[in-house]
Amino acid sequence: MKKSYEVVVIGGGIVGTATAFELAKRGVKDILLIEKRFLTSGATGRCGAGIRQQWGSELNATIALESTHLFEHMEEYTGYPRSIELHQGGYLLVAYTDKEMIQFRKNLEVQHKLGIDAYELTPKEMKEKVPYLNMDGVTGGTFCQADGHANPFQTTQAYAYGAKKMGVEIETFCEAVGFRTEGGKIAGVETTKGYVEAKLVVNCANGWAPELAKMVGEDIPVYPERHQALVTEPVAPLIDCMVMSFSHNYYCQQTPHGSFVMGIGPKEAPSHNFNTSWQVLEATCGIMCETLPVLRNLRVVRSWAGQYDMSPDANPVIDEAAEAANFWTVCGFSGHGFMVAPRVAIMVANRLTGQEDSLDIRKFSKKRFETGELLIEPSVV
Ligand SMILES: Cc1cc2nc3c(=O)[nH]c(=O)nc-3n(C[C@H](O)[C@H](O)[C@H](O)COP(=O)(O)OP(=O)(O)OC[C@H]3O[C@@H](n4cnc5c(N)ncnc54)[C@H](O)[C@@H]3O)c2cc1C
Repeated sequence: MKKSYEVVVIGGGIVGTATAFELAKRGVKDILLIEKRFLTSGATGRCGAGIRQQWGSELNATIALESTHLFEHMEEYTGYPRSIELHQGGYLLVAYTDKEMIQFRKNLEVQHKLGIDAYELTPKEMKEKVPYLNMDGVTGGTFCQADGHANPFQTTQAYAYGAKKMGVEIETFCEAVGFRTEGGKIAGVETTKGYVEAKLVVNCANGWAPELAKMVGEDIPVYPERHQALVTEPVAPLIDCMVMSFSHNYYCQQTPHGSFVMGIGPKEAPSHNFNTSWQVLEATCGIMCETLPVLRNLRVVRSWAGQYDMSPDANPVIDEAAEAANFWTVCGFSGHGFMVAPRVAIMVANRLTGQEDSLDIRKFSKKRFETGELLIEPSVV
């Protein structure tokens, strides 16, 4: 680690590594990425790694669609010699009320405008696609074959690999613990391995990002919320697609390895609690065995906890600190940061290098919480 860099990126999750990669790709030299533990030790390595284009707002659907295209070519894009294990088995979104189905149809209109190949399924067609699905109360659903999942460890490593090839330095077990500013501008980062000067700092520290932003006087209305997931023993292929419900708050998929990964979305008080609880384990098993009764015969191998960085409208906050120019925070992904990170990192890198972008990053500014121009998204779990 040198004493001075052009850019310091904080956070070795998918967002930080993708941002460092995209900055380097745009010719920015002298980039340091610091990670307080190891790459993917945060939410990225604990996520369901689902990728879906079936969003209800045009902005999110566009970001997800363009991110999917990047996932589809990630190895080539980053030069990574291994596979990110993308599997496009589709997402089946399940509606349990007529009102929900009406919303799904509105979402489809948005998706079709963008060329996303999602479509409505009747309960009978859903049963054909997922014969194990309990149809009690199901009013319909939608499906998109190009949705799926990728390996979050490999994807982050792909970005890190590509970034390093372009000269980005990655320092793990190095924590940002403070900042220095000069004349209203960021001047450097205090780390557990010493002070480094920086002309630009990009804070991609997920649920910890607001605490870091606070150190330069910036209030980011995002809080960490614990979310748990579990994995079962592997079995022969039973279900090819992700099965998800917003109203019943569950997601479940079978990985290429054969194990099932699943989670539910209970609201919790803000915390950095990474312990698992038997209550959530029991509730997850209850909901999922009711939804997919075939799971009753499977053994749970382990469960784990990670954190969502929740924003008031469940969309990211991307902004520069008012009292520390060139200190940017990129957080607030609210449980869907893996699938949108590739395109969001491009938006951030374009903005920071003064390049044009077809998407307006200013929509993610925190000003929207004052003006009331919230990014309303009807389809979040
Ligand atoms: C159970 C669960 C399931 C999920 N399922 C999905 C899904 O299916 N699809 C999807 O798209 N998203 C999903 N998500 C959300 C997704 O994981 C996150 O939105 C995404 O990984 C955020 O990436 P990130 O890089 O911002 O955060 P992280 O991966 O958390 O990276 C931030 C990093 O910053 C580091 N850091 C923190 N403070 C400091 C500091 N002071 N100095 C240095 N480093 C620091 C942390 O150690 C961490 O590694 C899920 C999340 C959870 C918890």
